[in-house]
Amino acid sequence: MPVPKKVSLGEREVKIVWSDGHESAHNNRSLREACPCAMCQGEPPAIGISPVIRLTVAAPEGVAARRYAMVGRYAISFSWSDGHATGIYPYDYLLASCECAACLAARG
Ligand SMILES: [Zn+2]
Ligand SMILES: [Zn+2]
Repeated sequence: MPVPKKVSLGEREVKIVWSDGHESAHNNRSLREACPCAMCQGEPPAIGISPVIRLTVAAPEGVAARRYAMVGRYAISFSWSDGHATGIYPYDYLLASCECAACLAARG
């Protein structure tokens, strides 16, 4: 598993340089809306409610990551301009959601 070497927080996107040389790109708003915390993704569905229904985060236009922190050796947490800061993004989750040209091409 590659590890982040450098994290850059931009107005439009977050860029991460990984130990294997990959430079991942993550649109701020996509990353904010993909926040894996329980608050954003909702609790497991109650009986009788379709499991496909999921709370979607209404991330404000122009939301941006303001700070980040390494969490152990497996994840990064971001503090967002909308005040949210409880999301912990595991490395594999970040790599799987990478939006760089190469990854987008590989995913079709
Ligand atoms: Zn969240
Ligand atoms: Zn990529």
